Amino acid sequence: SIALNHKRIRAEFPALHQQVHGKPLVYLDNAATTQKPEAVIDTIDRYYREDNANIHRGIHALAERATEAYEGARTRVAQFLNARTDREIIFTRGTTEAINLVAQSWGRANLAPGDEVLISHMEHHSNIVPWQIACQQTGATLKVIPIDDHGQLDMDKLDELLTEKTKLLGIVQMSNALGTINPVATITRKAKAVGAKVLVDAAQSVPHLGVDVQQLDCDFLAFSGHKIYGPTGIGALYGRLELLEEMPPYQSGGDMIKSVAFDGTVYNDPPYRFEAGTPNIAGGIALATAIDYVDQTVGLANIAMWEHELLTYATEQLSQVKGLKLIGTAERKASVLSFTLDFAHPLDAGTILDRQGIAVRTGHHCAQPVMDRYGIPATIRASLAVYNTKADIDALVVGLEKVREFV
Ligand code: PMP
Repeated sequence: SIALNHKRIRAEFPALHQQVHGKPLVYLDNAATTQKPEAVIDTIDRYYREDNANIHRGIHALAERATEAYEGARTRVAQFLNARTDREIIFTRGTTEAINLVAQSWGRANLAPGDEVLISHMEHHSNIVPWQIACQQTGATLKVIPIDDHGQLDMDKLDELLTEKTKLLGIVQMSNALGTINPVATITRKAKAVGAKVLVDAAQSVPHLGVDVQQLDCDFLAFSGHKIYGPTGIGALYGRLELLEEMPPYQSGGDMIKSVAFDGTVYNDPPYRFEAGTPNIAGGIALATAIDYVDQTVGLANIAMWEHELLTYATEQLSQVKGLKLIGTAERKASVLSFTLDFAHPLDAGTILDRQGIAVRTGHHCAQPVMDRYGIPATIRASLAVYNTKADIDALVVGLEKVREFV
């Protein structure tokens, strides 16, 4: 067992210490969003109390402080992902906006009839729909890598589907619906061999595994702040600088230009070319605090080790629940337990668990094709974070036995 001081860690998250329907909260919906530590809440509070100003333009003291903190946060994100330069980091609203940016800017400029975009059957809707739209707009074709009964990519089919026609491969590093971890570095190597660009959806992997864009050798990588103990409404896109330099703007307006005239406007350099308008300044700064929390205060290696131990424990405990079927039993997985019950519909189970103070997610988890693949309408999903303990899992198991009694 690894030595995380859970009393101390849990003390840092105010939202965990409350009663729900008269029961102590057991928060197991971390794949949807994580709770925030005091440090993150303090950063937001302090920013609005002391430094609030618009960035990049002001010459007064507050504007300089706000700009410095926001650009410092960009540097922190770049370090965390091991990007080559800060200029490869574009702040976005989150993973969804980051993928839309690539699909609309890179996609529309680089896709044509006859080209193919390859994604997998386990993608989140946010790595499916933007590519459907980009393909409709450009005449390119969307192809899908199948998954097996355990929720793993069919690597033979991947090899078949990856051809000279493939212009971009979009792949989730860790599935939010199944927990599967995909071998992204291997996949990237295969994609490079046919000249395809690679976009990684790292919404779930960044908080649990950590990522290194140079080691993965990907071209684009997207993640969301709110899944890594940071605020909502902020996230980032990593893009290889050579590609960003050639890409047209996504949105347009203030800050993304060098000069504007009615007979011609000169766009700014990356990353600013892709950051039109006043951004989520407090969010960006607090995202850096969240990264410090994960990377320094606790340590990503410690988080990964603890969550692995907890996942193993939870898998064993849930396997003892009669009538429970785990969906997603990949050899390599993290932090997600998706399951069905032969005695209750997921929605009813979720409601009964909530009455006991246990927060899980029920539904298709924005991954409807995954549900279709297994012929189920929905699952119940318990997902783990650093502050979860074995007691939370025990509470879930007791909660599920109550579900059996009630239905
Ligand atoms: N991809 C994956 C794998 C996710 O889990 C999520 C969030 N559930 C997203 C993309 C979308 O992230 P966001 O809603 O923060 O843009």
